[in-house]
Amino acid sequence: MSKHYDLISIGAGSGGLSAAERAAQYGKNCAIIESSKVGGTCVNIGCVPKKVMWNAANLAHAMADARDYGFDVTNNGLNWSKLVEQREGYISGIINWYGNYLQDSDIDYIAGKARFVDANTLEVDGEQYTADHIVVAPGGYPVVPEIEGADLGMTSDGFFALTEQPEHIAIVGSGYIAVELAGLMSSLGSQVTLLIRKGHVLGNFDSILNGTLAKVIQDDPNIVLLTTTEVDNVEKNEQGKLTLHCSNHQQVNNVDALVWAIGRTPNTADLNLEAAGVSMDDKGFIPSNEYEETNIKGIYSLGDVNGKAALTPVAIAAARRLSDRLFNNMPDRKLDYSNIATVVFSHPPIATIGLSEKEARKTHGQSVKVYSTNFTPMSHAFTKHKVPTAMKLVCVGAKEKIIGCHIIGPGCDEMMQGFAVAIKMGATKEDFDNTVAIHPCSAEELVTMR
Ligand code: FAD
Ligand code: NDP
Repeated sequence: MSKHYDLISIGAGSGGLSAAERAAQYGKNCAIIESSKVGGTCVNIGCVPKKVMWNAANLAHAMADARDYGFDVTNNGLNWSKLVEQREGYISGIINWYGNYLQDSDIDYIAGKARFVDANTLEVDGEQYTADHIVVAPGGYPVVPEIEGADLGMTSDGFFALTEQPEHIAIVGSGYIAVELAGLMSSLGSQVTLLIRKGHVLGNFDSILNGTLAKVIQDDPNIVLLTTTEVDNVEKNEQGKLTLHCSNHQQVNNVDALVWAIGRTPNTADLNLEAAGVSMDDKGFIPSNEYEETNIKGIYSLGDVNGKAALTPVAIAAARRLSDRLFNNMPDRKLDYSNIATVVFSHPPIATIGLSEKEARKTHGQSVKVYSTNFTPMSHAFTKHKVPTAMKLVCVGAKEKIIGCHIIGPGCDEMMQGFAVAIKMGATKEDFDNTVAIHPCSAEELVTMR
């Protein structure tokens, strides 16, 4: 006999957990099926361990800057094992908390890999479970290129398993993960080679962001940036060091750790979606409409697997709204995917929302007006290690509605959330100008730009 639920989530990551949690709050009978660890990518091998490493990297910079402020401090080196131990201890605490929370919420936790039997039935290790509503939120996994020796490298998953700090780390890719790992490893004292296949990092971001970050990377003595470079094959020598043979006859030698950061692919191959009739696109994503519905009634896809925006708060927000709609009589409730703010935890960080200048001009043409500024933040006015700040507001129409806000510089990661509220509410440049500045801080430039 199979057990029946109101809702089953496939995946105990940001999306699956949030859908079941919210449904359980409405008194629904829920289960979550998870093949790995509760918390999914974000908690175990994503946002959380990454942010701990980023915080550590910021402390390394703070120690160097402190000397210029007159403190007698010396950085005697990083105990990598201790950092990893503390990080993993913190993550274990989150996982334990979730375990208790699921029990207290009467959500059944089913350990194992789910596969569809039909549109209402899932199988895990030979046991069957049925549900009126099935939320497919299995996330994704990192891509490894199909080249000789690729398996000598690792992905971000392997990076978080490193027990020793690599002296020389090579990172391939130009997106979020590549620039985040490059910045933090350089800050922690490793030699970094960053290999990108085009001319720019963060190619889809506004030019003020990727241009400023590229300059910081180029000026960083710990980073070698190789643009328009592709890795052809990888080999390992007797000392265990890697050599990357690249396009244009370039070679990168003496690499202790190689990280592929070239994107992620959805975890859909083993779900047996055909049995339920659920459609995938040619990349394996499960498309969902504005209500996160797939082509099959009662089956939903959200989080990284629907390919809309691979960010934790997006998965959480979509999942909570779905359960509100299904179980709390809110028939129109859905996530508005416009104006989602995001932060890249590079060094310095990047915070961005809305359209880039290029996208805005393409859509709105002549009615776009742009305000921008760049400066050295006061925190670094007299430190040897200079960090830039740059900001851009993209406005449209006679009322100068703000349709894009792009910031790179220290503190912008915490700055953006409040500005995102204003922009989501339709703020204009005049609204920003009518807001009295807070002085002295970098954020005040956003309300005083001419
Ligand atoms: P996931 O969190 O990936 O959860 C899916 C779960 O489903 C997994 O636990 C998996 O084991 C399980 N699963 C898969 N298939 C099955 C199956 N057949 N049966 C049962 N279980 C299954 N986002 C941010 O917003 N901020 C950040 O700073 C950030 N940093 C990141 C850093 C890194 C290195 C990475 C890789 C990602 C980062 N992200 C960040 C993205 C964020 O982690 C994802 O967008 C988010 O985790 C997606 O949630 P999800 O629920 O869709 O999937
Ligand atoms: P991204 O999609 O951000 O970037 C991957 C980039 O790698 C591509 O855009 C492409 O850039 C380049 N690339 C693709 N294939 C190759 C190849 N074969 N060789 C060399 N370069 C290649 O992927 P990530 O893996 O960095 O991150 C996945 C997603 O996870 C992100 O998009 C984001 O949504 C989320 N994330 C969010 C974070 C945050 O919120 N702070 C942090 C980390 C991840 P190009 O075309 O320019 O070469």
